[in-house]
Amino acid sequence: MMRIGVAMLQGARHEHCEALQHAALEMGSSVEIIQLRKASELNGSIDGLVLPGGESTTMRIASLSEALLDGVFSWMAKYPDRPVLGTCAGAILLANPGLNYQPFIDVKVSRNAWGRQRYSFEAPLTILLDTPNNSDSATFELSRDRFNHKPLPMSKQVAPQSSESFPGVFIRAPRFIEDSINCQRIAMLETETVGVLQGSKLALTFHPELTGDRRFHRWLIEQISQNK
Ligand code: GLN
Repeated sequence: MMRIGVAMLQGARHEHCEALQHAALEMGSSVEIIQLRKASELNGSIDGLVLPGGESTTMRIASLSEALLDGVFSWMAKYPDRPVLGTCAGAILLANPGLNYQPFIDVKVSRNAWGRQRYSFEAPLTILLDTPNNSDSATFELSRDRFNHKPLPMSKQVAPQSSESFPGVFIRAPRFIEDSINCQRIAMLETETVGVLQGSKLALTFHPELTGDRRFHRWLIEQISQNK
């Protein structure tokens, strides 16, 4: 049985728990999801971690009372091979942890960088990451009303979704403005990098938990089973 922690900081946490359950079912894996609220819950029994999206500044403030973020970062420093999926604000935390931690991913991130009119949109992405086979993502359709997203700006419009594209949901998303050679670019919005992998850390500027495509959650489970 693998144990996956979800940092319950703020933002889209429950959706990650659900996506992980579905991914585990799709893969026939047995997963226990631990909703992490205190630093003391971060211990050696946690095999992998999700850092959800939300508002990173609020997360930093919210985590002060239970020192959750400090616990998360010290767990990551202690178990560098254990996989972590950071989405949106979670990606910001991986790149810019603060609290005197070195970045876990060597990218420069600019917060809310799509500009005021363009902060939320959906677009198909090209994914350059080997993930275990998907069984049901084809049945998922983007719901344009659910989050009241702004349409994609003209300059960023992309070709119709191919069967391999990923439904990218960007909500006040950050942008990677510089990446290092240590990072592998694994998710692209046209020519823009929106997902990077460095060792066991995967940082996405979008929200995979808000789609029915569980490729990235399956990636996490797959990485843990390889570590076991
Ligand atoms: N804009 C948020 C931040 O700066 C991130 C947005 C998100 O996670 N959806 O933290």
